Amino acid sequence: MDNYLFLKITKHLKRLHPKKAWKWIIKRYFKNPNHGGNDKWTLTCPLTNIQLLKMSWIKIERHVMVAYKNSPDDPSLREYWEKRDRKVFNNENTLDRMKLARKQGYRCALCKQTLQNGEKVTVRNLEVSTGEFAKLVHVPCIK
Ligand SMILES: [Zn+2]
Repeated sequence: MDNYLFLKITKHLKRLHPKKAWKWIIKRYFKNPNHGGNDKWTLTCPLTNIQLLKMSWIKIERHVMVAYKNSPDDPSLREYWEKRDRKVFNNENTLDRMKLARKQGYRCALCKQTLQNGEKVTVRNLEVSTGEFAKLVHVPCIK
């Protein structure tokens, strides 16, 4: 898994800097962890020195994640991604939305797919037999 991510990220970096040597890329993007330890392959933002937390990195991961999700389903992987989805979702959303998401099992109220499939998520009042309820849905799922 980590190797797969690493491969994707390095490919992305090579595309970002087509004219730079691989050594230059490594020096610029990979550092030892800020909190200590010696994994010199910690992906680090060259501008802010933030490690693996910057949005663009998450986007890279997200991209990889979607590619993974589209590959034939592997139950062990699915569990891994589901856990990760929840973490990402909770990091990006307000408490209200987190509560809604938990109630919905982190799935879109319309298509029942995971909320974190790369689509924009919004709150909609949906009519459920007993009345109107605020639900989280993917924007493209709203007709
Ligand atoms: Zn949906």
